[in-house]
Amino acid sequence: MTNADRFDCAVIGAGVMGASVALPLARAGMRVALVDRGPICREASGVNAGTLTMQMTRAALIPYALKAWELWMDTPRWLGLSVGAEQRDGLSVAFTEAEVAILEARAAARRAAGAPITLVDGARAREIEPGLSERALRVGHCPVDGFASAYLTGRAFRVALEGAGVALREGVAVTGVERVRGGWQVRVADGEPLMATRVVLAGGVWLEDMAGWFGIRLPIKVLINQLAVTERMPPVMQSVLGIASGLLSLKQYPNGTVLIGGGWQGRGGRHDGRGDAFVPEALIGNIRLAAFVLPALRRARIVRAWLGLEAETADALPVLGPLPGVEDGWIIGSVHSGYTSGPFMGALLADAILGRPLALPLFPIDRLLAQKDAA
Ligand SMILES: Cc1cc2nc3c(=O)[nH]c(=O)nc-3n(C[C@H](O)[C@H](O)[C@H](O)COP(=O)(O)OP(=O)(O)OC[C@H]3O[C@@H](n4cnc5c(N)ncnc54)[C@H](O)[C@@H]3O)c2cc1C
Repeated sequence: MTNADRFDCAVIGAGVMGASVALPLARAGMRVALVDRGPICREASGVNAGTLTMQMTRAALIPYALKAWELWMDTPRWLGLSVGAEQRDGLSVAFTEAEVAILEARAAARRAAGAPITLVDGARAREIEPGLSERALRVGHCPVDGFASAYLTGRAFRVALEGAGVALREGVAVTGVERVRGGWQVRVADGEPLMATRVVLAGGVWLEDMAGWFGIRLPIKVLINQLAVTERMPPVMQSVLGIASGLLSLKQYPNGTVLIGGGWQGRGGRHDGRGDAFVPEALIGNIRLAAFVLPALRRARIVRAWLGLEAETADALPVLGPLPGVEDGWIIGSVHSGYTSGPFMGALLADAILGRPLALPLFPIDRLLAQKDAA
């Protein structure tokens, strides 16, 4: 083992969570390795819908998302590159009385948590978004919304991480972690293991496998979210549009393409890879809904569709904190609207690792393990 293979911290998984932990640790002076079996930010963090939203974020996570939203809007300052982040009005639309009830309850909970959401009628909503369907009854409006281009995330983080001296090891699959004298030995599929004093698990939907390396049973549900993008169109919308039930997200990028999402599910699991489980029927439903909400999309042609894997815990709240009973072991992930909150969540965990005061509480995983035992 050479000195070059010894680190103060090994972060396993280079999505937005792992990258957001590794960067502040390195900037605080730690020697950090960030290890991923693929390229940086090419799973959920590189293929997501890029919505930076309060309306789809769980109320408990609003304070975290608000701080992270500010970070996304300002990446040239702290990452050195833009990720195409743009502030837009966020609209969450209700078309039926049942949806109005859902919308009012959700907006109230999020407003209480600090999100500046107001409810407006359809006419006011169409002033904000002229292309919106005339059948909108009531609409949640949040000016703190917008989007980034998820596929630019890895490029921006790479520059910052390398500038901060992080050893970025891409194409390196970790197979296990073992306690050895002086820290942790991180075993990899091909090549020499890494040595690190601390280890952070940031494996997205694969966190269940990673927790298993420590004998911890942490059930992680896998959502298989489908997305589609249209050809370039003339301007058809200027807001970020969703519906109260959550089954739609729509935005038009500056190049004219419209991204259609909403969590319509594909098939498969965390060990099936990505891209081989697309469900075309779900795509058709998603597109029909999109064209109902924004009629100009009836003219749109879809040029590409794909899917990605999103992690969720039993209570849909994050795993963020120490690994119970594991000295110098930490875990981060399963954050609802995790792209939105990612940069702040990562910085928060880095503060915990560095022993700094925390701006907001962590989400220790003990609660999830206890639920498992009780079941
Ligand atoms: C299609 C889709 C749309 C979404 N849309 C939005 C949205 O609009 N707004 C929003 O806020 N959120 C959205 N999300 C959620 C968001 O993308 C995720 O919450 C977030 O990106 C998760 O980041 P992560 O770093 O935890 O996981 P990931 O980005 O999945 O990163 C985990 C990494 O761990 C690596 N890894 C796994 N096992 C190993 C191993 N053994 N060795 C080494 N490396 C390993 C993987 O290669 C991967 O790079 C969406 C998710 C999906 C899938």
